[in-house]
Amino acid sequence: MEQKPATPKDAAAIILLDKDDKVLWARRNPSLKFLGGWHAFPGGKVEPSDAEISVKNCSDKDLERFIVAAVREFFEEVGVLLVRNGEKLTKGQRASLHDDLISGRSALAEILADWSLHIDAGDFFYTGIWTTPQFSPVRFKTRFFIARCPPKQTPYAAISEMETPEFIKPAEALERWANSEVLISPPVLISLQELANSKFNVQNSKTGSESPNVESSALNLLKKSQNSGGEINYIELNPRVICFPLKTETLPPATHTNCFIVGREQFVVIDAASKDESEQRKLFELVDSFIEKGFACRAIIVSHQHTDHFGGETALKNHLKNKFGLKVPISAHRQTAESLRGKVAIEKFIGDNETFELKDEAGKSFVLHALAAPGHARGHLCFYDEEKGFLLSSDNVVGAGTVLIAPPEGNMNDYMASLERLKNLPNLRFLCGSHGAAVFDARGKIQEYIAHRTGREKQILEAFENGAKNPAEIVGAVYAGLKPGLLRLAEKSVEAHLEKLKADGKI
Ligand SMILES: [Zn+2]
Repeated sequence: MEQKPATPKDAAAIILLDKDDKVLWARRNPSLKFLGGWHAFPGGKVEPSDAEISVKNCSDKDLERFIVAAVREFFEEVGVLLVRNGEKLTKGQRASLHDDLISGRSALAEILADWSLHIDAGDFFYTGIWTTPQFSPVRFKTRFFIARCPPKQTPYAAISEMETPEFIKPAEALERWANSEVLISPPVLISLQELANSKFNVQNSKTGSESPNVESSALNLLKKSQNSGGEINYIELNPRVICFPLKTETLPPATHTNCFIVGREQFVVIDAASKDESEQRKLFELVDSFIEKGFACRAIIVSHQHTDHFGGETALKNHLKNKFGLKVPISAHRQTAESLRGKVAIEKFIGDNETFELKDEAGKSFVLHALAAPGHARGHLCFYDEEKGFLLSSDNVVGAGTVLIAPPEGNMNDYMASLERLKNLPNLRFLCGSHGAAVFDARGKIQEYIAHRTGREKQILEAFENGAKNPAEIVGAVYAGLKPGLLRLAEKSVEAHLEKLKADGKI
């Protein structure tokens, strides 16, 4: 079942700098479908009406509607109006115009005309375009611009979409990311790195302080975006963990399986799952760049035996052997090895609570814990970096799609016990499963899963007590309006719940 990737929607965002060269970021509301809980620069989708507003001094006509969209979205989300003549508005007038705009009473074009305001392209430095990777069910093609915050305007959480907007020094933002206190997307990371390392700092003649040359930073960023074609192959969840989604034949709506590279100087590769050679090549390129820096690959790991979790590991092993003469063992849980006999040669077993001593880019050691978390599959492994509070939950908890518990391989009692164990991991902060984006509030997400399964069990027990005796009858009673294609999966899931109810002595 091949799923087509979502078509990216045009969008625009603004990297706003204040007078001290701090940059504005905000946390996206955790309930948002797209990167909920991630830190981002304010911005959003281009609307057709954005093309009706003209931007003064705009030499690049293609960019015009993106600048307008950025201005509109920015005003909507954080209340800052990036227009010329805007200084004549009082704070109260701006708030009232904001209210007019988001309530739909006035369009941005009307607001600008009524108050003789205009957008000037000279206030915006274009830094390029980035496209959300294919694995995401919601995708954007976003143009980014650097702008300066007008005097006397202070960003605030003007709508619920963006929480706690704050100006932060780019270096401090990067430190928070390095400490795994925030999740940020690749364009945000690249922009912060550029602003923090700007080699074109110029001295402010009045204050004497160093200030980044915005134009140079924007040009550098633009080059980076152009060199990569605006494509994003992987996401650095923190400096230790890379999430590299690879195209696999997985269960819809997911289209990709996340491969993880954990560590740098000493690293492991988890679920090099794609059977597709062009996907494998993309991964090899990154792994090769690590080996060429002198980094060592300690293991190639298969998290569990499902078909969307293996298929590229042997190719990676052979590639490292042929190109660099390296011998890297393919490793998995003993039960996974048994299930994969004849398909993948597992050379090393990973047991519960086993640890991998890895090293980050600076050579600092850290420990990655392997956790046997059965339920979805018997030999299912999750991985935990306790110091950073980052859990790689494989197929136990995912960012996109649902987790199937299909007997006899799947076992609902084991699954619920695994979820409880993961939920109670010390210092747990974020998680990333094998499908979809990393999840902000790992504990909350796992609790959501537990509540969902508990609720489902209750419904199934009720249906059983009301006379529905087999999985097909129970599915009919419990899963109203289910697409025919999903019936069999639902029956499997009911079977798992019935097994648990029996084991618990409830039926
Ligand atoms: Zn699976």
